[in-house]
Parts: sequence; structure tokens; C-alpha cells
Amino acid sequence: MSKIRVHALAKELGISSKDLIEKLESLEIEVVNHMSTIGEKEQELVKNSLKPSVEKVEKKEEDSSKNSNNKEKNKTNKSDKKDNKKNKKSKAGKKEEKKELEVGDDIIISLNSPITVKEFAEEIEKPLAQVITKLIGLGIMASQNEALDEDTCILLADEFGVEVEFKEPEAEKTIEEKLGLDFEDKESQLKSRPPVVTVMGHVDHGKTSLLDYIKNSHVTTSEAGGITQHIGAYTVNVDGKKVTFLDTPGHEAFTSMRLRGAQITDIAILVVAADDGVMPQTIEAISHAKSAGVPIIVAINKMDKPTANMDRVKQELIENGLMPEEWGGDTIMVPVSAKTGEGISDLLDMIQLVAEMQELKANPNRKAIGTVIEARLDKGKGPMATILVQKGTLRLGDSVVSGVSSGRIRAMTDDKNREIKKAGPSMPAVILGLSEVPNSGELIYAVEDDKVAREIADTNRASIREERIHAHTKVSLENLFDRIKEGEMKELNIVVKGDVKGSVEAVNQSLLKITNEEVKINIIHSGAGGINESDISLASASNAIVVGFNVRPNINAIELAKVEDVDVRTYRVIYDIINDIETAAKGMLEPTIVEEIQGRAEVRQTFRLPGNRVIAGVYVLNGKLPRNSMVKVLRDDIVIHEGPISSLKRFKDDVKELATGYEGGMTLDKFNDIKEGDFFESYILKEVKKD
Ligand code: GDP
Repeated sequence: MSKIRVHALAKELGISSKDLIEKLESLEIEVVNHMSTIGEKEQELVKNSLKPSVEKVEKKEEDSSKNSNNKEKNKTNKSDKKDNKKNKKSKAGKKEEKKELEVGDDIIISLNSPITVKEFAEEIEKPLAQVITKLIGLGIMASQNEALDEDTCILLADEFGVEVEFKEPEAEKTIEEKLGLDFEDKESQLKSRPPVVTVMGHVDHGKTSLLDYIKNSHVTTSEAGGITQHIGAYTVNVDGKKVTFLDTPGHEAFTSMRLRGAQITDIAILVVAADDGVMPQTIEAISHAKSAGVPIIVAINKMDKPTANMDRVKQELIENGLMPEEWGGDTIMVPVSAKTGEGISDLLDMIQLVAEMQELKANPNRKAIGTVIEARLDKGKGPMATILVQKGTLRLGDSVVSGVSSGRIRAMTDDKNREIKKAGPSMPAVILGLSEVPNSGELIYAVEDDKVAREIADTNRASIREERIHAHTKVSLENLFDRIKEGEMKELNIVVKGDVKGSVEAVNQSLLKITNEEVKINIIHSGAGGINESDISLASASNAIVVGFNVRPNINAIELAKVEDVDVRTYRVIYDIINDIETAAKGMLEPTIVEEIQGRAEVRQTFRLPGNRVIAGVYVLNGKLPRNSMVKVLRDDIVIHEGPISSLKRFKDDVKELATGYEGGMTLDKFNDIKEGDFFESYILKEVKKD
């Protein structure tokens, strides 16, 4: 016998590492965690003490501690969900709620807020045309589907001689929550379930190779044929225990799921190439996993390469907040090679270990709730969806509903393309029979019968329509104060991007110095470089604003920010950032001068004139380039210059502007460091008044 690690001994003894650690503690043998080593003498002690009579007593204690642990877990899960679903409002039941209160002789009509012009007309029982006319009289041009604010409603009601009041907004619940489909299970009904693992990391660090290696090496020959198909998730057997891998590597998929309110990952594997080290997407992945509260296991990959340098990688990981276990931290780091397979079984052991510590459980004996991992329309078979079951058991023939899609499961296969009749917690299954392709990330519920499924889908459709009409609720500097006031916000989450590392740190430090009684600043991610889609999706998933210092969002990020309604603010002076946030928190944001973007052009060629003047041959990608606008010169989304245009020509002629799809030549005022591949972003300054 020699020294042995805690987790290995636990395995040998057939108990969990957690139990073993407790046992060791009770024997006053000091260990830090499951990676600690135990000497021979201590091993003897433990083995002797594991006599059956002792075990019984211990077990009771352990059970009760498990109970309390789980309760806590349930709680956090629940509040997570609430946040995610904040936006969803259902129209169901709205009609019944409409009631008229009598106060003396006057009738007060009680309204839901927000309310559209049309709904308002219906509620006060006046013709829509009259309401619109009265609105025009009040100087408000609004169409029937536009939302009215409360003050306007009161004014308007007054015009009609009626009195209105606003209902307290009801607790925001989805229709499924209202129907009680997602009830809590009793502790005694819970059974262990396999962990669900997502692989993240920088491009080319070996995420796909790692997933492929695991897929190919851990599937028995009889299953091997089927698993080559991609369904978005697969399950492997590790020493008789199952692990489910999400087969879409990268944090984009992870975050887009989170955006839709699905948090299905239990463990994140962060792949870092040993010959390349920590790169921008590695840092992004760390932020994404941390902000979702998912434990990280690092796989230091490509150890077979002669240039592999594990210590350097570890050093860089420490700089980014991940301390290796063997150096006293709590992040497991496993050297692997997706090429030779070295270390991969250790990695799988570690996944089991972390899963064991998390005590993942679900009740298999109830109607299923799952998440749509992937979905598509198959020409022959109709809508196909890969479901990852979270609770309960999904069965062939079940009536299901996911968002606006409903139906009865008429065929079901597993990840190896075998026909199955049921799928339990953490198991992926491909189902056929839905009425339309559901959204990935959307929850799916098994319900009583087809009729119920269809009704829920219809209600969801109606509430989506309503959501589109009604106002958004993402945080922005404009609404920050109101949200603090309403007690909705205690923390302001911020994603910080800057041109260089030094400036990012300076911005972070200044932000953290903001002392405001009302709101605490929380920097959830920061880094050097332009603002990209990942920043926006992280901000959206975490309800954060994005602050850019000397950097700009790229086109995709601008588009996504619009769709996700994320407030992106860019600055050139740190003082302005701090000032804006401080004043916003106090509700005193001044009317601001904003830059209204006109368009973007790419520099395709440059010509040098005598006297070192440089003409840029540009192509307008979108919007327009007006002669009198200002221009930001962007190199890798970093602003390297900003100033007026000094000449704008199309062929030989001076022009007032260049439109999308046109080429032209331009020179900038007092700036000649223009290179091919730079972008020009044109903007005009506009004052926005606060109302
Ligand atoms: P991803 O972008 O993170 O999914 O990375 P890939 O899995 O596509 O791998 C990128 C490249 O690295 C491919 O050419 C792989 O063959 C190679 N690669 C991945 N893992 C290893 C490894 O462990 N050792 C070596 N030598 N090459 C690897």
C-alpha cells in the first residue's frame, strides 16, 4: 500500500468522496479536498472504521445534511427561473381580472399596465376612433397597437369623463407555471441523475476533437453505428455511470440557451491548448460559466505537442481567476490530449467526481419537463427536436407542448438512433410529432392530452404577440434609476471592453470605486478588444450594460444589441463613464448628445499623395457616408482616430454622400495613418432631450 488520493480511495471503498472526507474529518485526519493524498496508516484507520454498525449512524447524519443541501439548491434554481422568465407575461386570465370597482357613485375602471390604445378603448368602452382623435387632441400621434403610459391614460380617461386606476402588476408567470406543471418534488422522490456537460474554450483548442474522442472511445461497438449522427447531445458510459455531453461546443450555444432561460449545464469543461494558453475566448468562456454559476473543470489539451507548456497555462489561468487544486485552489485541471487520448479517462473521472459533489437529482416519476436542445424541419418526417429531459420521464405517445409548438410524440429515438419508448432525467431523445419546429432553449412539458397541449400553445402564441407590443424591461442607464426606485435592482452588472489591457483595468478600478448607496457595481466580464457578439449575449443573459472605452461594437454586435435590447455605451474619457453611471443611479442623467451612426465603410485600398496625404478607397457596407459627418477610424474594432472628413469623391467628382454599395475616395482631416482593412464609421452628433 502507498499514498492514495481521496477520490481514488473513495472509489475503492465504494463510497462518495464527500462521505469519505466527512469520515476522515470525524477521524481527525486532515484533508483539504478530494485531491488530497492519504498515507498508509490513515488508510488503515478509515478502512477499520467503516464497519457496518458505524456506517448506519453516519448515514443518517449524511442524509439530513443532503436534505438541507438540496433544499438550498432548489431555491436558487427557482429564483434563477424567475429572473429568466421576467419578461414573459401571459394574457391568460386577463379578461376575468378586469373588474370595475365602485367608489361612491363614480366608477373607477381598473387597467393593466402597460396597455395599448386599442385595449384602452375596449376597457373604457369607447370607439377606438374617438380615442385616437382625443389622443391627437392631446398632441399624441399613436396607432392602435402602441402602448400608452399611465399618465397619458389618466389624462385621456379624464377627457372621456371616466376615472381609471392601475392594477398592481400580477406576479409574472408563464402559462405553464400558472397551470402548476413545474411543481416541486418531494425529497424522497428524487433520484440521482447523470451530469450534463458543456465543452467550452478558444477556437482551435480542441473542443470538437475532445468531444469526438470521448464519443468514439466510450461507445460500445454495438452502438457505434448510430452515434455518428449529430443530434446536439450524447451520453457515454464511464465505469457504469452515465455522463451526458452537449455536442455543440462553445459558449455561444451555452449562452443562447441561457438567453432563453434554459440552464441545463451542470459542469463546464474549459479546453485550453497547452501550446497556446489562455486566449480571448478562454476568458469569455470563464466569464460565461462563472456568471451562470456552473463549476469549471479545465482540460489542458494538446499535451502531446512538444511545445506544450502546462505551467504557463496554469499561470495564465490563475491570472484569470482559476486557481489549480494542487496549488491550493479549487479548480480541477487535467492534462489531456484529444489526439492520443492521454488523460481523457482522468478527465471523465473528474467529471464524475464533480458531479458526485453536486449531488444531482431529479424525480423520474412524473410528467416530463425538458429543454429543446436542437430542432429542425425534416422534409420527410416533419419537425424533429432533440430534447434533454430534466425532470420526469418522457414517453412515446405523450402529449407535449413547447412554446407555440404542440403535439403527440409519435416516434422517439436515442442518441444512437435506436427506437426508444421513454427517456428519463438528463437523457437526450429525438422526438417526432410536434406541430411546428420549437425554439432551442425553450422548455417542453408533457401534459394530460393533446387538447391541453394545444390550448397552452395557443395561449403562449397570444402572449408572445402581447410581449412584442409591450415595453421591454432590460436595464439601461435611462431606466436604472426607476428600477432602483422600484426596488427591482440592487446591483448594476457591467461588461467592460477597452482598447488595451491597461485601460480596461483603469476603467474597472474607477467603476468599482463608485460608491452609491442604492446600487452596487458588478463587473461580470472585462477584456481588451472590440465589443463582439459574445459580450452582448453575456450582457443580455446577465441583464448587464456594456461599457466600451476607445472601442466600438462590430456590426454583428450592433445588430444583436438591437435584438436583445442591450444598452451599449462607448466612451473616450473614463471620467464620463463614472459620471454617467453615478448620475444615472441618482436619476439625473442629463440630456445627452448622442452619436447617431450613419453608416460603415471598409477601406479597400490606399493611395499616397505627395506630401504624405493618404486617400482611402472605400466601399460603403451599410448606411451612408455623408460628407459633413464625423468619422471614426476602426482597426480591429478599436478606435484609432476620430475626426471630420476633408474630402469625399466618387470618381473625380466631389459628392455630398456615398450610399450603401458605392465606392469612393476620401481623405480625413489631419490624419493619414489609414490602412487597408480599416473601417470608417460615420456619425453625426444629435442632442436627445429627456422628457
Ligand atoms: P475547436 O475549434 O476547439 O473545436 O478545435 P478542433 O477540435 O477543431 O481542433 C483544432 C485543431 O487542433 C485540429 O486540427 C485538431 O486536429 C487539433 N487538435 C485537437 N486536439 C489536439 C491534441 O490533443 N493534440 C494535437 N496535436 N492536436 C490536436
